Amino acid sequence: MSALNQLSVEEQKQGLNFIHAVIEEDIRNGKNGGRVQTRFPPEPNGYLHIGHAKSICLNFGTARKYGGKCNLRFDDTNPVKEDTEYVDAIREDINWLGFRWDAEYYASDYFERFYQWAVELIEKGKAYVCDLSQEEMSRDRGTPQKPATPSPYRNRTVAENLDLFERMRKGEFRDGEKTLRAKIDLASPNMHMRDPVMYRILHAEHHRTGNKWCIYPMYDYAHGQSDSIEGVTHSICTLEFEVHRPLYDWFIRALEIHAPQQIEFARLNLDYTVMSKRKLLELVKNKYVSGWDDPRMPTICGLRRRGYTPESIRNFAEKVGVAKRDNIIELSLLEFCIREDLNKKAARVLGVLHPLKVIITNFPEGKTDMLDAINNPEDETMGTRKLPFSREIYIERDDFTENPPKKYFRLSPGAEVRLRYAYLITCNEVVKNDDGEVTELHCTCDLASRGGQSPDGRKVKGTIHWVSAQHAIPAEVRLYDRLFTVENPDDVPDGVDYKINLNPDSLKTATALVEPCLKDVKAGTGYQFERLGYFCVDPDSAAGKPVFNRTVTLKDSWTKQK
Ligand code: ATP
Ligand code: MG
Repeated sequence: MSALNQLSVEEQKQGLNFIHAVIEEDIRNGKNGGRVQTRFPPEPNGYLHIGHAKSICLNFGTARKYGGKCNLRFDDTNPVKEDTEYVDAIREDINWLGFRWDAEYYASDYFERFYQWAVELIEKGKAYVCDLSQEEMSRDRGTPQKPATPSPYRNRTVAENLDLFERMRKGEFRDGEKTLRAKIDLASPNMHMRDPVMYRILHAEHHRTGNKWCIYPMYDYAHGQSDSIEGVTHSICTLEFEVHRPLYDWFIRALEIHAPQQIEFARLNLDYTVMSKRKLLELVKNKYVSGWDDPRMPTICGLRRRGYTPESIRNFAEKVGVAKRDNIIELSLLEFCIREDLNKKAARVLGVLHPLKVIITNFPEGKTDMLDAINNPEDETMGTRKLPFSREIYIERDDFTENPPKKYFRLSPGAEVRLRYAYLITCNEVVKNDDGEVTELHCTCDLASRGGQSPDGRKVKGTIHWVSAQHAIPAEVRLYDRLFTVENPDDVPDGVDYKINLNPDSLKTATALVEPCLKDVKAGTGYQFERLGYFCVDPDSAAGKPVFNRTVTLKDSWTKQK
């Protein structure tokens, strides 16, 4: 892969994160022959979100940094919720983020091996078939202080267990009738070690193995063994798996196979959104949003449609760092990262969201003046373009007021303002309808101020954007805001649904008028509408009918509110 995953200047300054410190120690000690191998292990039961992006950057970035490998492994051990639609979307999103996996694996490819290993554990007296229901198991589980009650099936003979387990595989029992459990320690203070379930019976079709299996391994039994088979050296996962680590290690030791090291870090949480796949799925299914790629979703495809770039997300992941304790990161930081990236890359254009007509009474009728406009002041190589000006233009309704407060530098009766790249104009007449609403302004322009220069050095402080009425193109503009109105939408009292915190104003649409260079634009391209924000061309656009999503405003208006 390219330089994508290399250590950034920022990371160098910060020093090593704690995971890299562990890895470097292992390399120094010659562990695994100095080899480094990670993996990104999504369950294909939903679309990836910004939290997964953090994990992707960390796993792929770590492999790159130490000249190792990072594989993509689908953790597809739960047939009921998984689907190939998700597999495809996950692959696309990782690629889009700029990462290429060394190999692509599926936990379901190891089902036979897992089965044989389970047989081995039965033979070693370390696993048994249990007839208790899930409820009975929970009832007997004990508390951290009080040991679990042994299952009445705990002392089945090896022969009996082998026979029952084989018959479980053959489909002789119904769902939930039997499980295979590891025989570990009923008094362990770690509840995960109290004879955890390794296999359950599920007569369900799997998206890859079809109806070949009716017993499926549990996460705890499948994950470590998958890591081991693939030769993973450092199995990076989120903090909630810390308490699972003794079990992860127990299976590997009992089977005497290659031992990867599990290292946990804090999962990424973002404010003003929810991140659990269950909730995101609910928002999609119940049409609170238009789909997984709704630009308000924290999913990678949602962020992409919103106008986020891979660079901005990678940069964000890096700025967030690797924490050992759970915390909530501000969405403002993500927005900062996309502003920073688009400021460098996005072409500037003029567009008016809420148009107000202005007639320049002294400008010749029928004349079009082609003005020079700069595409990006941050990048000269992006050049200039021609911008048509004519007698009738539109300005932003908000850029005019009849009763200007002090220090109001935009347009008001009698005031002079600069039209970006064009002329200085003065407002002489305000036209209103019967309801008293302003419908039109009549202005004169200083014909000697072409390009926006003041011809005699007089000061004109305000500059506003505009479009030529005759040349402008109507565009649908989708103005997105945060999906939730509160920092932590999940924080609701018992019995109250988190959806009460949904922001009813998270999407507003407007018909904007934009300059003619935006007539035929390519979906995914980001622009800066001067003075308004960054906007990205939506795939719903058709020839001559652009649709724009507001990616982010130019300034952070939320942080100010607090
Ligand atoms: P669920 O368990 O609800 O299916 P999940 O978020 O755990 O969802 P996985 O597909 O299991 O989803 O996650 C794949 C990888 O991404 C795992 O290694 C997981 O730890 C990591 N990951 C998931 N969410 C986050 C997050 N918010 N921050 C960092 N890493 C995450
Ligand atoms: Mg998971």
